[in-house]
Amino acid sequence: MHRIRELFYLLQRLYNCHEWWPVHENTDPFLEVSIGAILTQNTNWENVEKAINNLIKEGLLNWENLDFVRMEKLKECIRPAGFYNQKAIYIKNFVKAVKDLSPENITRDFLLSIKGIGEETADSILLYGLGKPYFVVDAYTKRLFYRTGITEKQNIPYRKVQKMVMKVFPADVYTYRLFHALLVEHCKKYCRKKPICRECPIRNICRQNLK
Ligand code: SF4
Repeated sequence: MHRIRELFYLLQRLYNCHEWWPVHENTDPFLEVSIGAILTQNTNWENVEKAINNLIKEGLLNWENLDFVRMEKLKECIRPAGFYNQKAIYIKNFVKAVKDLSPENITRDFLLSIKGIGEETADSILLYGLGKPYFVVDAYTKRLFYRTGITEKQNIPYRKVQKMVMKVFPADVYTYRLFHALLVEHCKKYCRKKPICRECPIRNICRQNLK
């Protein structure tokens, strides 16, 4: 069996994960996922939630209001997510570029042309916001693929890792979402920066298990 497939099935048996990206009731899921994907750059999810809640409380989590809100007000709301000066600009750029488009016209290349939208952010928007089949590669993915011997180096190009997964599971939105959630779960629990190998339930397939 392909190593990627083997890892996926092992993790699926271990964790009761579901495809993951929380959104609130009464918001536009595409918009909320997209703003969350921008806000989560270089911070943890708890901080993103605080910023999203501020936007909701101020009635700003809709396309028109985000487009027209004063920059200072936007910065104040998203401050908990850090890098708020930059992220406010990125949010404004994104909203202006996308608000009048229909989902079928929003492509990966188009998202990447917007300043502040990198590969991981673009793929999160496509996969979770629009249900388009792009696997999201994050630092956890690269770490676990390297440690379990799927890749030879940890620092390999984003697209290369993404293509490896998309070749094993072609155009499979459900699996991409679930796999991402499983990788995050396992890395938070065991395969941390300093891994807890002695307790790790997949140590028998991992080349790092003797450390
Ligand atoms: S054995 Fe250690 S390095 Fe390998 S997956 Fe488990 S925690 Fe990570």
